[in-house]
Amino acid sequence: MEFTERQARIVEIVKNSSPITGEQIAAKLDLTRATLRPDLTILTMAGVLEARPRVGYFYKEKKETSPYMDRLRQLRVGDFKSLPISIRENISIYDAIVTMFTQNVGSLTVVGEGQTLRGMVSRKDLLKSTLGKTDLQQVPVSIIMTRMPNIIMTTADEPVLEAARRLTLHQIDTLPVVEAFIDEKGEERYEVIGRFTKTNVTKLFVQIGSLGAQS
Ligand code: ADP
Repeated sequence: MEFTERQARIVEIVKNSSPITGEQIAAKLDLTRATLRPDLTILTMAGVLEARPRVGYFYKEKKETSPYMDRLRQLRVGDFKSLPISIRENISIYDAIVTMFTQNVGSLTVVGEGQTLRGMVSRKDLLKSTLGKTDLQQVPVSIIMTRMPNIIMTTADEPVLEAARRLTLHQIDTLPVVEAFIDEKGEERYEVIGRFTKTNVTKLFVQIGSLGAQS
């Protein structure tokens, strides 16, 4: 498990002085209990710490991983992805903006022949291009897109958790879901077969949470 710096410090404190209350941990870190609450919740849900009411937190030497956590790690991008919304790189910035509105998405994948991934354009790329004197009807989207090989991608069989981590790590909203193939020149290319977005992750979170509440 990858801890944040603060989570690692909490774990060290609990390891060395359990049982220990949330208030006591907060005091040692010079933080408020409220600031620590999300970390304590995550560490308890992940089975690293055990919370005993009116006693405090313990470090769990023998971690039984919760079956739900195991299932969460097994969820695959392919089962939760959306359809790709793609444009060609020679279409104008103006048409890209219209496509973004009509398709109701925040990012567009830019593709060539055979849905081969060429780049991505986001809302802010398009907004930025409207600030200057660019002729939006004339300038192709290829001028402003983020292009290969700088595109962060995912595949259908990748765990959702990994893809979500990449979205947060790179501070982007969308990962194109691709299938790699070798073209006639022997180069590796990527066919776009979907998109995996922060909205997919949010929907999944809401669904799991809501079903859990009904059972
Ligand atoms: P916005 O720019 O609207 O906030 P993003 O955060 O998704 O949307 O995009 C930030 C920047 O990263 C933009 O310049 C965009 O072209 C680029 N970008 C978007 N998606 C990807 C991706 N999957 N890989 C690499 N760069 C990306």
